[in-house]
Amino acid sequence: MVSEISSSIAERLVLRYDAPSGRRVIAGKDVLLHCHHYNARLQRTVESADLVDGKRLLVGAAECVFAEHIDLALRAGDSLEVRWAVAERLYSHLGFGRLDLSRAAEGVIEASASHFVEGWFAGLGRPERMVCSFAEGYVQGAAYAVTGELVYVREVECMAQGAPKCRFVVERGRSEPVARNAKRPLAFRPRERGDWLRSPAIDEQAIIDALVAMPVEGGPDGLIPAFGVYLACMPADFYNRVCIGFLAEMRRVGRGPTAERLLAAEAEYCALNTYRGVMSSPEWDGLVAPMLRGPDDPLFAAMTFCNALGFGRWHIAGLEPGQWMIVESVNGYEAIGAREYLGATSTPHCNGHKGAAAGIFALIYGDGPLSERFGTFHTVEETCIACGDPVCRFRVERLG
Ligand SMILES: [Zn+2]
Ligand SMILES: [Zn+2]
Repeated sequence: MVSEISSSIAERLVLRYDAPSGRRVIAGKDVLLHCHHYNARLQRTVESADLVDGKRLLVGAAECVFAEHIDLALRAGDSLEVRWAVAERLYSHLGFGRLDLSRAAEGVIEASASHFVEGWFAGLGRPERMVCSFAEGYVQGAAYAVTGELVYVREVECMAQGAPKCRFVVERGRSEPVARNAKRPLAFRPRERGDWLRSPAIDEQAIIDALVAMPVEGGPDGLIPAFGVYLACMPADFYNRVCIGFLAEMRRVGRGPTAERLLAAEAEYCALNTYRGVMSSPEWDGLVAPMLRGPDDPLFAAMTFCNALGFGRWHIAGLEPGQWMIVESVNGYEAIGAREYLGATSTPHCNGHKGAAAGIFALIYGDGPLSERFGTFHTVEETCIACGDPVCRFRVERLG
């Protein structure tokens, strides 16, 4: 019985990869792979901005998106026990850690492994406060999807502060509704052809096929160690809600350009770390290294890797090795999300893509340790789908 339930849940969480769009879909939602550095740093950026209630933004985004995502994974006829099991399994499957929801009905919730705690340990030091805002929002969304009840979930002990487990309490009697993940219908056709550069040495399809076939899901501890980082499959909706909300709040208090810079910097840091891990991984050695012929082939291979991670598809449209490149993104999740949530933006919107492009370029062509490469390239987004342009076009240039 238990294994039957387990395989029924597993079958609901199978990854579907849509090759033309480069989207990864799990249980009806687009997800993308990001590392623990990015997720923890994004959280720190959003929550530490004094003039913005970043914690509320983060908890609210997790609650809203996972109330919907868990609901999409439920089936008519699931018992209450199975419904909680689905919520618990989705969390670990996506790589967020091990969350015990078996006694959630009694208000007892514990986590024994956490993607976000690992992210804090990896580079942000011991925090002054508990860090599991994401888990709080997730469980609030889960409670709503599983039982229909409105609750607040509050962490009372956190591994990031040395506790053996993260522990959460449930506060009942909440009247504030769970926000619906409302989007506008979007009829957008990504550009299918362009003046895009390719390396004849790099078999893009082979790289994509191998990455899509690679099992990227949490083990018994719900973590996904790969490429020297912990990966998580995060719904694009979560990033979009957090980043759009953060930008709006920061603009409201006159700090819009700072917010844009911060969001780009976190993505750059993540790209440097993740792609350094990718390029020293057995997967890279086995699959990509034998393809490499010319000095720019690592760049073409790295960009192909990106296209398997769920961000959308991008292409190199111009290159002066070591100096600059032009990248076109035909359906990046940030731009598509902006159109769905906001309709349109007056200025280019894709700060994460900007940072990632600069980070990858610095990794391929920069010198010295990563800390010295950070910030050596600058990206301008010249056109953006969020503003109504046909593609997002990024110019990456060496600074100074
Ligand atoms: Zn915690
Ligand atoms: Zn854009």
